[in-house]
Formats: sequence, structure tokens, C-alpha cells
Amino acid sequence: MSGGQTAALADKVMLVTGASRGIGRAVASTLADQGAVVVLAARDTGRLDAAVGEITTAGGRAEAVAIDVADRASVEAALKRVLDAHGRIDGLVNNAGVTRDNLVLRMKDEDWQAVLSTNLTGVFLCTQAALKPMIKQRSGRIVNITSVVGLIGNAGQANYAASKAGVVGFTKSVAREVASRGITVNAVAPGFVETDMTAAMTDKAREAVLAAIPMGRVGRPEDIAGAVAFLVSDAAGYLTGQVLGVDGGFRM
Ligand code: NAP
Repeated sequence: MSGGQTAALADKVMLVTGASRGIGRAVASTLADQGAVVVLAARDTGRLDAAVGEITTAGGRAEAVAIDVADRASVEAALKRVLDAHGRIDGLVNNAGVTRDNLVLRMKDEDWQAVLSTNLTGVFLCTQAALKPMIKQRSGRIVNITSVVGLIGNAGQANYAASKAGVVGFTKSVAREVASRGITVNAVAPGFVETDMTAAMTDKAREAVLAAIPMGRVGRPEDIAGAVAFLVSDAAGYLTGQVLGVDGGFRM
């Protein structure tokens, strides 16, 4: 942030799950660049500390907190740490997510459960924990990272698509519940973004995806971060229950 201007997110306390790498990492950096105090959360604290170090070296304010979003006790402990340290939480970005791909006929119960637990139950647990202080504050911003796959499906990803479609329904329901409390709840639906999650894709599958993206390139984590930064800002104050596609035109 250059001098002379007020940063868009000055002093806002923002919790980003899955912030150790990929999209969450870029979201954390972008929010910090805009003046927020960012709490980066994930399971691997070594990677989190490295991410926090990079943000603080760049002049941002950031700290790490260990969280397993699928575990209520872990989520509640993380939220307690944020509130003990800062006394408030202005934004929650539910970004932590996993894949365990297989055709539905071959899908094991544990692959179904693991994906639903992190991607959907995790969003529920973190939202519930963050909403309590937000309702007291009568303000807050929640952004849930869903996926284009939750909107159109994908062969080999029935568990992931179900979890991400669930996030869309959850987003709209909670948006309706808390709209009168000054809290907005929106979702961002990325298309194909270059991260660890998509690194294992074959060249053939990658070419097929690329051919279907009107903008002719895959997404970068920063592309998603820009949309999230807008949705948590004051500029998005009259926007709730929406699913913002950030996919280079893939699903227009
Ligand atoms: P990624 O590079 O694999 O990073 C996933 C992040 O989630 C990591 O920080 C990971 O850290 C964390 N995480 C996983 N399980 C967790 C748990 N139980 N508790 C807390 N943190 C957990 O993935 P990404 O591509 O950045 O994806 C981020 C989000 O965007 C996900 O929700 C994903 O579904 C969504 N998305 C991605 C794409 C894409 O093309 N990449 C497209 C659409 C949507 P630890 O392992 O250390 O916990």
C-alpha cells in the first residue's frame, strides 16, 4: 500500500483457512496488502509460519494459527485465539479444501467422508464459530470458496462436487439468516487455478480445460484473491448470497 491513501481493509481482522499455500496463501497476501490484520490458518504450521514470514517481510500484518477445519474443538480453539488477541473478527474466508478423486462406483467411504468433512462440515464449523462474535459486532464478511465443479459437476469428483454444491446452498441459507445483522455471506467459484491441488492433472486433461476457457489461460491464485478482497471490503456492503464465478469465462 503506497502512502497517502487509506487502505481498503485498514485494521480489519481477517481469518483465512487453508492459507499455507495456493489460493488461501494469495488471499492472505492480498488482504494484508490492503491493510488487514490477517490470521492464516491450516494444519501444517511449518508452512503457515513461512507464509506469515513472507507477508510480514513485505510490510503486512499477519499471524498463524493451527486449525483443522473438520474438527469442532480445533475450530473453536482457533477462533478463541483470534478473539483473545484482537477482540473482534471482521472477515472469515472459508478456503480450506481437499480432493480425493475417483469414479463414484469406486469411491471409498473414507474418500467421500474426508472431502465432505473438510469442504462442507469445515465451512459450517468455522462459520458458526465466527458468526457468534460477528452478530455481537453487528458486522462481518464471510466468503466461502466453492468451485465451478460444484455448479456443473465433474466426472471423477462426485464427492468434491457434492461438497462444493453444498457450500453454495449453505452460503445462501446463512446469508438469509444473518442479512439483517450487517453480515454478508458470499461464495467465490474459481475455475481451474494452478496450485498443488491441480498439479497432478495430466497434460491431456489440462489441454482440454484450457480449450474451454475463453480467456485462454488458467487461473492464478491472485485472480481469486482479488475477488475475495472485493467481497470482504466495504464496497461490497450491499452484496450477499451471491456466487461469483472467477474462471476466465469458463461458465459464462
Ligand atoms: P491447495 O493448494 O491444495 O491448498 C489447500 C489448503 O487447505 C492448504 O493450505 C491446506 O493446508 C488447507 N487444508 C486442507 N485441509 C485442511 C483442514 N482439514 N483444515 C485446515 N486446513 C486444511 O488448494 P487450492 O487449490 O489452493 O484450493 C483452495 C480452495 O479453492 C479449496 O477450497 C479448493 O476446493 C478451491 N478451489 C480450487 C480450485 C483450483 O483449481 N485449484 C478450483 C476451484 C476451487 P494443510 O494441508 O496444512 O492443512
